[in-house]
Amino acid sequence: MTTSKNMHILLIAGTRPNFIKISPLIKEFNKHKNISYTLIHTGQHYDLQLSDIFFKQLNIPQPNIKLNTQGETRDIYIQKLKEDIKENISKQKYDLTIVVGDVNSTLAGALASKELNIPVAHIESGLRSFDMDMPEELNRIQTDKISSFLFTTEPQAKQNLLKEGIDIKKIVPVGNIMIDSLLNNIQNIDNSNILKELNIKPKQYILSTIHRQSNTDNKEALKQILTTLIQISEKHTVVLPLHPRTEKALENFNLKELIQNKNIIITKPLGYFEFLKLIKETICVISDSGGVQEETTILNIPCLTMRENTERPITTEKGTSILVDNDYKAIPKYIDQIDSNKWKHAVTIPLWDGKTAERITQYIQTL
Ligand code: UDP
Repeated sequence: MTTSKNMHILLIAGTRPNFIKISPLIKEFNKHKNISYTLIHTGQHYDLQLSDIFFKQLNIPQPNIKLNTQGETRDIYIQKLKEDIKENISKQKYDLTIVVGDVNSTLAGALASKELNIPVAHIESGLRSFDMDMPEELNRIQTDKISSFLFTTEPQAKQNLLKEGIDIKKIVPVGNIMIDSLLNNIQNIDNSNILKELNIKPKQYILSTIHRQSNTDNKEALKQILTTLIQISEKHTVVLPLHPRTEKALENFNLKELIQNKNIIITKPLGYFEFLKLIKETICVISDSGGVQEETTILNIPCLTMRENTERPITTEKGTSILVDNDYKAIPKYIDQIDSNKWKHAVTIPLWDGKTAERITQYIQTL
């Protein structure tokens, strides 16, 4: 039997979806004596509801390094964060950096590591919306360009990377680590009391989230979405956990009053167990989230995605999601279809099986 060599890994995370993606990896790393890691929290999401609660619920240890980088624009933030990360990691030797997802912290972490000659592995690589107005798309493309190991969730991601001229040897299909988190925590999700707390019943409400810049920075789009939610709320209770960016937009655009005193339950951003429990029991989800398209697919819950495109096409091809585009007025019609049980069902997606962290860990042991 060959024993694997010792490895010290730098793990970088900064936002709610990042925390969900690193949790299964840490769980897996802890099973291997030869793997040690340093965790950097970039501070991109720092508050209780977007950060602390995920560390607690998902058993993520306190970060070894916590940053508090500020920057007014995306470019400035990424540049400053890159420098802050470099300053904090330059004295120690790392065998590999792992970054996840598509946020500014993902790219800053990859750039910092690359500049210090640490090989970078990107989890959730190759996803493309082909919409260069999305900051996430820029982060995805630039991170993939400088990564040495590209862990993909779905076949289209591999095709996208090959079309961009990326060496096939760098691409490793491993599956979807978000699904690991979901399956690892299913018991806690099932045990959540959130329905009772909100005084709602299974299959008698609709869950909605809005946080993409294309929706929150555009008053007209946001107003139309809210108007649609109000229309829907005449028939079904709507539950709307508000992302801080959306909350700010509602204030800036004076739209808060519009949804007050309606059949809409507005909550703060929810913990992972609570939110996933709401997905499991909802009639459908109306959202612009990336991760939610995947979670609804695996849970076979209809999902109306309020976007013109998706970097996760497998969720519309094999899953339960459809793209609503900007046609918000069509949403009530889709809900009628869902109410009359005329919605597509998800089919099993290869490698979305809860074993992605295991496959990634196995792979990096061979490096
Ligand atoms: N989520 C949560 N509480 C909420 C809203 C979302 O726990 O109130 C979780 C959910 O699992 C979702 C994940 O956070 O898949 C990703 O968040 P978000 O939609 O903000 O990011 P995206 O996936 O669009 O990058």
